[in-house]
Amino acid sequence: MINYELNEKDKKLQMEAAAFCAKEIAPRAKMLDEATQAKKGELVKENLKKLSQAGILGVSLGSDKVDMVSHYVASEELAKACASTFLSARSSIFLCGASLNLFGTKEQKEKYLPGLKSATIVGGLAYSEEAAGSDLAGIATAAKKDGDAWVLNGTKDIVVNAPIADVLLVLAYTDKDAGLAKGMSLFIVEKGAKGLIIGEPLDTMGVKGAPIASVKLDKCVAKEIVGGVAGNGYAQVSRILDMGKIGVAAMCVGIGVACMERATLHAKSRRAFGKAIGSYQEVGFKLADMFTNNDVGRLLALRAAWAMNTGEAEAEIIASCAKLFAGEGVTRIANLAMQVFAGHGYIKGTDIERLYRDARFGEICEGTTEIQRVLIAKKELDKFLPA
Ligand SMILES: Cc1cc2nc3c(=O)[nH]c(=O)nc-3n(C[C@H](O)[C@H](O)[C@H](O)COP(=O)(O)OP(=O)(O)OC[C@H]3O[C@@H](n4cnc5c(N)ncnc54)[C@H](O)[C@@H]3O)c2cc1C
Repeated sequence: MINYELNEKDKKLQMEAAAFCAKEIAPRAKMLDEATQAKKGELVKENLKKLSQAGILGVSLGSDKVDMVSHYVASEELAKACASTFLSARSSIFLCGASLNLFGTKEQKEKYLPGLKSATIVGGLAYSEEAAGSDLAGIATAAKKDGDAWVLNGTKDIVVNAPIADVLLVLAYTDKDAGLAKGMSLFIVEKGAKGLIIGEPLDTMGVKGAPIASVKLDKCVAKEIVGGVAGNGYAQVSRILDMGKIGVAAMCVGIGVACMERATLHAKSRRAFGKAIGSYQEVGFKLADMFTNNDVGRLLALRAAWAMNTGEAEAEIIASCAKLFAGEGVTRIANLAMQVFAGHGYIKGTDIERLYRDARFGEICEGTTEIQRVLIAKKELDKFLPA
């Protein structure tokens, strides 16, 4: 017997997060998208505080574990309201917070998690580099031991929250000869650390409200490694990014639902040739495809979330499938929604124009569409053979 219902706790979370985000976050999405770089950080921090006060920000972080179903549920509702806020919240509470929650020492958890949950501090995760996005083995950032501390040199070129971060987790080689498995470590670098240089804010095509910048480490002094022991950085980052595919899928479905709802309202109200455009089959079919893509994306992501929570062996691959499907799905959905709005969606400043730009990020971030296919094919190829 299969039951596709959320449990009572997650149903309640979904209802509360949907109502809160619709009332408090969605009305600020356009303002955030259009904010100057100087104002963006302030607006995002206000949103993070609101989410914390509503009990949504850290909802999935339990002691030493992360509830991926709750994470999915809250993420979809937040991304539907504002993808930029989702991205910033996720970098702080999930990429940074969940990494500390899962892999940090007791002292590290006590020091950073209360602040990240209450949004009195903001976090981020800096792993990729200009020459190493999909291929993390290629990072050049390296750390050398210097007495009790470590000295880091290198540059991370695109880091969400860098302009407003109080704490960044930074991936660096500590022993290149030890390779991926044991050669990297994840450092805790605090705002104001000697040698930490945050670049000028970057202007992106979509998710424009999320503060993003490069991070230069110029003989940067870091005192701590996540978990306290060198050599586990690649495994830690890989694990959080694997789990993170569920959050990215949630972002894609959230944006997809926002597109579908707006397109449906438009299809019912806009008239052409004497009828609502939604009564033309060509328009109705677009709405049907949007609904189907969103529903399958959500099912797959929740299936992956459940597999992560229960420790199913295939959890990581199902998460890749969910990220792949939802990422490509939201690109299709945003395109269909734009077509339903036609000229009235193409104007700068409309919701559909913003959603269309935000949607395109889903196929790029944290393991591109191509990389997900590579992972699925590599792991599953033998299973495609007849028994
Ligand atoms: C808005 C935004 C926010 C970001 N935030 C962060 C952040 O907070 N922290 C952080 O560390 N990074 C961040 N990034 C970086 C992000 O993780 C990378 O952009 C992403 O992983 C892809 O890497 P890349 O851009 O270097 O692409 P590349 O790795 O250069 O890939 C380019 C193309 O080649 C393809 N390709 C590469 N290898 C293969 C292969 N083996 N098989 C088939 N195709 C392949 C890719 O699929 C892609 O189509 C962010 C990026 C953006 C745009």
